[in-house]
Amino acid sequence: MYIGGIEAGGTKMICAVADEAMMVVDQISIPTTTPTETLTAIFDFFAPYPMKAVGVGSFGPIGIDPQQANYGHILATPKAGWQQIDLVGALSSQWPDTAIIWTTDVNAAAYGELRLGAAQGKNSCVYMTVGTGIGAGVVREGALFQGIGHPEIGHTFVKRHPEDHYQGTCPYHHDCLEGLAAGPSLEGRTGIKGQDLPADHAVWDLQAFYIGQALVNITLTLAPEKIIIGGGVMNQPHLLTKIKDAFVQQMAGYMETPPVDDYIAAWALPNQSGITGCLLLAQEKVGQK
Ligand code: ADP
Ligand code: ZN
Repeated sequence: MYIGGIEAGGTKMICAVADEAMMVVDQISIPTTTPTETLTAIFDFFAPYPMKAVGVGSFGPIGIDPQQANYGHILATPKAGWQQIDLVGALSSQWPDTAIIWTTDVNAAAYGELRLGAAQGKNSCVYMTVGTGIGAGVVREGALFQGIGHPEIGHTFVKRHPEDHYQGTCPYHHDCLEGLAAGPSLEGRTGIKGQDLPADHAVWDLQAFYIGQALVNITLTLAPEKIIIGGGVMNQPHLLTKIKDAFVQQMAGYMETPPVDDYIAAWALPNQSGITGCLLLAQEKVGQK
């Protein structure tokens, strides 16, 4: 028997199969098109591997309260065709004997980083991705942190920089954190894609101002032992240092944290935190039985 992981993203679905010792035996990346087409490809990939459990880390927002009718559904996503899709329902009817562990993509990534990445040995961490969107997953006391829903830190509000008049890209809030600082805002402000912007462009200071401020808010609210940042925009090697400086400046000495170079770190499992977390969640479920 095997365990599986599905990192369900708006662009692609990363699927992996491992043995119960977490040795990956097969992996694939499937483009996210229509639910029917994508699910068919997922079922084809996993068909040769009977699985005891599958960990799913999904783009969201998602319904995570088992008492609610929307459990297992993808909710108000901007991704066309995927609103209100009952993903867990579809997986369970295909695999009736497989346990499905269901959480957000960033929660899974936070879990992967806590167990095998930059926050190894800690009991708590926050993982933030800065990519097409901004999202953050939270692990507290070794477990995923969720309540009536899951944290949606990417859509929290940040104080505007006095010289910034950009309207923001979020269709819901315009100038929330994601609206002001996710990858598309870089292109929206400058007309140049993030990957093509020179390191000395002034927009990086603004970027660091917002992300640093978000990390202050996370620290003040959740007091995690470690904050980890990943995502496409963090491929800018100079950005992490700027973010740390902005964090220290805006925290203004108020709350004591570990030294900033230990406290704020880049992902240790680049592009693998999410799928690793999905497999770990499945492995643990199997271990509990
Ligand atoms: P997703 O969030 O869709 O999973 P990514 O984490 O790769 O995907 O993020 C994609 C975003 O990151 C895009 O907005 C892209 O322009 C931006 N990006 C990708 N590479 C870089 C880079 N080297 N520097 C800055 N921005 C980048
Ligand atoms: Zn928003």
